Amino acid sequence: MKDNPVIIAGGGIGGLATALTLHQIGVPCIVFEAVQEMRPLGVGINMQPNAVRELHDLGITRDDLDRVGLPAKEWALVGLNGNEIYSEPRGLLAGYNWPQYAVHRGQFHMLLHEKVVERIGPDSVRLGSRVAGYRKNSDGGVTALIEHADGSTSETVGALLVGADGINSAIRAQMHPAQPPIHWGGAVMWRGTTWAKPIRTGSSFVGLGTHRHRMVFYPISHPDSQTGLAMINWIAEVTMDNTEGWKQRGWFRQVGIGDFIHHFENWIWDWLDVPALIRQADSAFENPMIDRDPVPTWRDGPVLLLGDAAHAMYPTGSNGGSQAIVDARILGAAMIEHGVTQEALAAFDGKLCGPISQLILRNRGAGPFGLLNIVDERCGGTFDNIDDVISPKERTEFMAGYKAAAGFAIEKLNQAPPTIPHGARVRSMAPAF
Ligand SMILES: Cc1cc2nc3c(=O)[nH]c(=O)nc-3n(C[C@H](O)[C@H](O)[C@H](O)COP(=O)(O)OP(=O)(O)OC[C@H]3O[C@@H](n4cnc5c(N)ncnc54)[C@H](O)[C@@H]3O)c2cc1C
Repeated sequence: MKDNPVIIAGGGIGGLATALTLHQIGVPCIVFEAVQEMRPLGVGINMQPNAVRELHDLGITRDDLDRVGLPAKEWALVGLNGNEIYSEPRGLLAGYNWPQYAVHRGQFHMLLHEKVVERIGPDSVRLGSRVAGYRKNSDGGVTALIEHADGSTSETVGALLVGADGINSAIRAQMHPAQPPIHWGGAVMWRGTTWAKPIRTGSSFVGLGTHRHRMVFYPISHPDSQTGLAMINWIAEVTMDNTEGWKQRGWFRQVGIGDFIHHFENWIWDWLDVPALIRQADSAFENPMIDRDPVPTWRDGPVLLLGDAAHAMYPTGSNGGSQAIVDARILGAAMIEHGVTQEALAAFDGKLCGPISQLILRNRGAGPFGLLNIVDERCGGTFDNIDDVISPKERTEFMAGYKAAAGFAIEKLNQAPPTIPHGARVRSMAPAF
């Protein structure tokens, strides 16, 4: 088992960040990805400063990130007349040593894939190869059971198996056969991108409405130098009765604008025309807000869950993609300390499973959008002077409470040493036991 690679199930953001990390620290790996062709799927996603720091440490530069997104400058909640309820700077402007990036999920994913192929080789990502399950071996290693797109099957022996196979993880289903089905709390998001003039700082996340009926939008490209238009990512969201469960097929599907625009038809003001923004989109996707109930462990001997397979969560804190990257780096750090061993997986699990599982549950609440609910209850969302509706002290205290719970900690991140010291390599592939 000494020279067997680490097998990674799933070539999404988490799986590819893991491959880049293992390569950086000298650990051979292979990624098995179910899809037959990598395509730039999805719309906007945020990379928080802690994840951007890790990306830079992986040699993914600002220029790389500027090709697929732009640094976020502001997070703002506004009333229905566009007047400000609350805003705060983001990334470098907030005092972090690293920017926050708003990126196109698909283009960012392609960037990671390009880097993996360039650094580890074209054979490092095996497409059309679904990992259906695993068998633990008596020598401490693992065998991955693979189903290929042509209908054939094969087995690959690895030192360890990392299940980075997303919210529908087959690895997790085997590890936790009694896990409840995917959890849907009733919110449905319709997402798309439209070329339009960015507002406020030019790179602001803007949210309006209420926790149960809202619109969120932010640019995910630099503006075109000729037209000034940027790619605006928008999320239109409504919470509905979920007592009968989700009736549509699948959790992510392309839909017609007519399927949902009626929820927002009268959201037209002099500063924002939501129906026009939606109608001008190339395409729209329906995406119920789903997550999974936490499980007590992400590890089964030589097998580990990471990214959405471990902790699919509501995007309330814009941190699902960021956490997948941080996971990859913490796994790398654990291997530097413990080798390519089950102890490394146990260290990872011990450090992250408890706190991140708490975050899943916390993200089910209104999070920072709770401020919108207060404003809605008190004045219906329209006001001239926000101080007449909710005092500066109450606003600040509300957001401070959220941030303390969500673990925003600028100084802590700025002062923390790199997760993986520059140039660190795993000394031995052999297990320590
Ligand atoms: C198509 C798609 C579009 C998305 N769009 C958005 C978006 O617009 N905005 C947003 O915030 N988040 C989006 N997400 C979710 C976001 O990317 C993840 O929450 C986050 O990046 C964590 O990534 P992950 O690698 O853990 O999981 P994922 O991104 O889900 O990646 C999992 C990968 O594993 C592959 N896979 C699944 N099962 C197996 C298996 N058994 N064997 C091998 N491979 C397998 C999948 O094809 C996928 O490539 C999207 C995810 C996907 C898959």
